[in-house]
Amino acid sequence: MSKLSGIKAGGYLPASFLDWDGRISAVVFCCGCNFRCPWCHNSTLVLSEPGLLLEDIFSDIMRRSKFLDGVVVSGGEPTFWRGFLPLLESLKEAGIPAKADTNGSAPALLREVTEKNLAAHIAMDIKAPLDADAYSRLAGVPVGIEKIIESVELIKAYAPSYEFRTTYVPALHTVGDLLKIRRDLSDDAHWVVQCFKPEGCLDEEFKKKEAASAEKLKELLPGIKIRG
Ligand code: SF4
Repeated sequence: MSKLSGIKAGGYLPASFLDWDGRISAVVFCCGCNFRCPWCHNSTLVLSEPGLLLEDIFSDIMRRSKFLDGVVVSGGEPTFWRGFLPLLESLKEAGIPAKADTNGSAPALLREVTEKNLAAHIAMDIKAPLDADAYSRLAGVPVGIEKIIESVELIKAYAPSYEFRTTYVPALHTVGDLLKIRRDLSDDAHWVVQCFKPEGCLDEEFKKKEAASAEKLKELLPGIKIRG
């Protein structure tokens, strides 16, 4: 029996040019998340039940593997999903590079990923400056900040390649918060700031909030990589 049998995913994109910089990737989405960021634009995945058989998705990836540079495992929160390690292990066995997206709340699992060399790239969300109150406000649930800090240090030290990324939510962040994140991560960390978009937010109130424009972010944060 395959290690993927009986596991379901929430979504599948056979080819994307946007989810892994410079690569054509398939994207596998899980359902569920342990955070409830009110501004999350993946609310459908966070709240729904998975319905696609992971074995079928994997067969499709294998059929098309010569056209792909890799596979992104995204969500929801992949480390919260029972398919996370089995999928990464299956991709490694097949020689297909993987990128793992995460909110960083499961450092023990990320340690396993780095120790077993299961992901060529890890992208971790940094919601707020690295203190418990700020983080919990942005994540919508109480967050154990020590686990987030552990994941940051682990990824910096051991991921073959990584990116920290912050979604700038004007209703919740000040520019000072962004500068503090920069200091918390250290100046040489690979950090990208991206724009909040109100469509599809988890919290209805945030569907009415102001979006952030990439141009404004570039003005506010000279020298920082901005993704629109
Ligand atoms: S933005 Fe927040 S709620 Fe949405 S998937 Fe990421 S961690 Fe979960």
